[in-house]
Amino acid sequence: MLVVMNKNATQAEIDAVITAVESHGYTARPIPGGERVSIGVLNNEGAVDHSRFSALSGVKEVIPVTKPYKLVGREFKSEDTIVRVGDALIGNSRLTIIAGPCAVESETQALTIAGHVKAAGAQIFRGGAFKPRTSPYSFQGLGEDGLKILAKVRETTGLAVVTEVLDLETFDLVEKYADMVQIGARNMQNFSLLRRAGRSKKPVLLKRGMSATVDEWLMAAEYILEGGNDQVVLCERGVRTFVRHSRNTLDISAVPVVSRESHLPIIVDPSHAAGYRDQVMALSRASVAAQAHGLIVEVHHDPGNALSDGAQSLLPDQFKKLCAQVRSMHQMLIETL
Ligand code: PEP
Ligand code: MN
Repeated sequence: MLVVMNKNATQAEIDAVITAVESHGYTARPIPGGERVSIGVLNNEGAVDHSRFSALSGVKEVIPVTKPYKLVGREFKSEDTIVRVGDALIGNSRLTIIAGPCAVESETQALTIAGHVKAAGAQIFRGGAFKPRTSPYSFQGLGEDGLKILAKVRETTGLAVVTEVLDLETFDLVEKYADMVQIGARNMQNFSLLRRAGRSKKPVLLKRGMSATVDEWLMAAEYILEGGNDQVVLCERGVRTFVRHSRNTLDISAVPVVSRESHLPIIVDPSHAAGYRDQVMALSRASVAAQAHGLIVEVHHDPGNALSDGAQSLLPDQFKKLCAQVRSMHQMLIETL
């Protein structure tokens, strides 16, 4: 339930509503809006009796929330959330491009790719230092050395950096170096990791689980917001289906559905959806046409020798072309919508 205050409600009236909500054993979560404050009522089992709050001074209306997710939903907050990552912003009418290798392999590799993606117009650099690999024998990432290389990339290029956190043990370390912390598909429902991300001061990139419904994904984001961190970007990266021509199947309809249901930005990862380089351009264009707030694309200058995901990594020239295409598509869309 949401208690919407009058535009000119005083702080004392707001405080009185919070006290009333808490006196019933619920949690009150003030949500500042552009014009007025609303107070979310959380931790209620079953419906809350409206009349308890609608008669209080300064209350405009009491709205029942029908969805299982609350803080991430548009019922609680109608305006788009804008997430800041270093100097870059994600959300609303922007198209923010994140790019880089699947994994940080060496300082030279990371700086070379960072130079290319920055020149093409990417605003944020990606690169895994801790990699979730199907096989324990595959390259697992450089660990803290990889994080140090990411810090070097930021220092050299000015790009913000996003990197994946795999577990609770390394959360503090990853958080120290990263501008944005990524929770990967395999960890989307790792609830202790989500709670830890909720206590973080860093923005979070939450990828969709490979067989998660949109509701499950939004509930995973709810854990992070419930913990106090509202800087969350959702990332559609394809779901597992029966097809063999691509690694996953990009669920493009998730973009409009998430945008309708949630105020959080949604970006698309065409690389993990496709699994093959030759599909990445088309999926990127489709994502921008569907009004995703951004893309996260794997790029490698020597994909044949990449230590992970070379087959889906674009060459720098291909990425440059992709950026030019999607930027002009996006421009056309914002002018005509
Ligand atoms: C990645 O971004 O490199 C990655 C492992 O992605 P996902 O969690 O979507 O598989
Ligand atoms: Mn990858």
